[in-house]
Amino acid sequence: MRSTWRFAGTLVVLLLVAPSARARDGAGPLSPVALATAERLRDQAIGGSGAIDLVRSLTTEVGPRLAGSPGDAAAVAWGLRTMTALGLANVHSEPVKVPHWVRGEERAAIVQPYPQPVAVLALGGSVGTPAGGVEAEVVRVESLAALDRLDAAQVRGRIVFFDVKTRRARDVEGYAEAVPVRGGGASAAALKGAVAVVIRSIGTDHNRLPHTGGVRYADGVARIPAAALSIPDADLLAAEVATGKPVRLHLELGARELPEADSANVVGEVPGGAAAAEIVLLGCHLDSWDPGTGALDDAAGCAIVLETARQLRALPQPPRRTVRVVLFANEEHGLSGGRAYAAAHRDEAGRTVVAAEADLGAGRIWQVYGPRGDAAAPAMAAIARLLAPLGIEHAADRDDGEGADLIPLRDLGVPTVSLVHDASDYFDYHHTANDTADKVDPKSLGQCVAAYLGLTAAVADSGMMFRAPARR
Ligand code: ZN
Ligand code: ZN
Repeated sequence: MRSTWRFAGTLVVLLLVAPSARARDGAGPLSPVALATAERLRDQAIGGSGAIDLVRSLTTEVGPRLAGSPGDAAAVAWGLRTMTALGLANVHSEPVKVPHWVRGEERAAIVQPYPQPVAVLALGGSVGTPAGGVEAEVVRVESLAALDRLDAAQVRGRIVFFDVKTRRARDVEGYAEAVPVRGGGASAAALKGAVAVVIRSIGTDHNRLPHTGGVRYADGVARIPAAALSIPDADLLAAEVATGKPVRLHLELGARELPEADSANVVGEVPGGAAAAEIVLLGCHLDSWDPGTGALDDAAGCAIVLETARQLRALPQPPRRTVRVVLFANEEHGLSGGRAYAAAHRDEAGRTVVAAEADLGAGRIWQVYGPRGDAAAPAMAAIARLLAPLGIEHAADRDDGEGADLIPLRDLGVPTVSLVHDASDYFDYHHTANDTADKVDPKSLGQCVAAYLGLTAAVADSGMMFRAPARR
């Protein structure tokens, strides 16, 4: 009886929504049936989902998965078998060349004026120190701009200590303010003759585990070793500097770069129906840094998008459009997977309706935003209405875009919708040995799945558009 009524309702809607009306309505047609499905999937997922099992599976069966490492290859195999087990179609891997950096042994100690060991992690991609390490006087700066103001004579032969605090924030802004010294500090210091850099970890915790993350060497500049101090050790080093006595640091990093390695993006689909050529892309990154098991960064994101696809695939009727899940290779250390995907799928950019990536932990999603402007406004309004019951606000003034792996696709004109997690405690664990599965709250993760399911079900089973149609 119910299904008869539903069928009748669909007919009425099909008759009422004439093609000309559809063309005017960029949000439509989101039929009552499609809306009801999106609402039902959304509401079911709040009560819990299979996503937490996927986080546990990836962190247990694979663990750390730094690009090029044996864990990276194991993660690709995990992705293929997991997508297959979840019932996705067209499951395959696409080759990606990745850098292969290995950490090696590392240690550091303040040797003067008050000798104490300190906890360090090399930044990803850092060169190692010469055998026996480097030892030099420390010069402390609070920003890249402060380094700029120093004469080369004050820096030459020294170890620059970037002492920049990370502000705790609900979104990524506190991190974004602090992180430039991690990527760019080494080359800026090398230009003034420094022999190494250490940074206060880009993080908001108070324990003795340093936060790694990538360093980016500028072309044509000497490559000097770069490491992160744990936050209490950064405090200690700052306190010794504050005595006014010369402070010397010993730093020993065994890091080195091996030849490029083979990795892969892992791809699977929920094939669409009437509009199967149109793609709704959901992404996450499969790689992680090496100290933890990459539970928050980014097993959680992969679990969210995989569970979303699993539930859509399990529907009796496929959505109109194809939902494609991409587990990107090597986001952390150079966006290799995102670049390779965009290069290989350039010809599909025009029919990729929208893309979204989950890569900010497993906190509750509190904000959504998408492309600004008239073309996307009706679709964004419909999405905002659908997600409001989950406590998600629409930030109509934002369009910067989450998801680093999607940057190469955005450059090809693919619109992105961003679901922003509450990242208030994400940077306590991010890129540390503490990024483990116990930090993922199953309830919050369920809310994330609910948001992705609502968004994806609505977009995939409608004619929603996020950009103006291409001129012919
Ligand atoms: Zn990430
Ligand atoms: Zn990361």
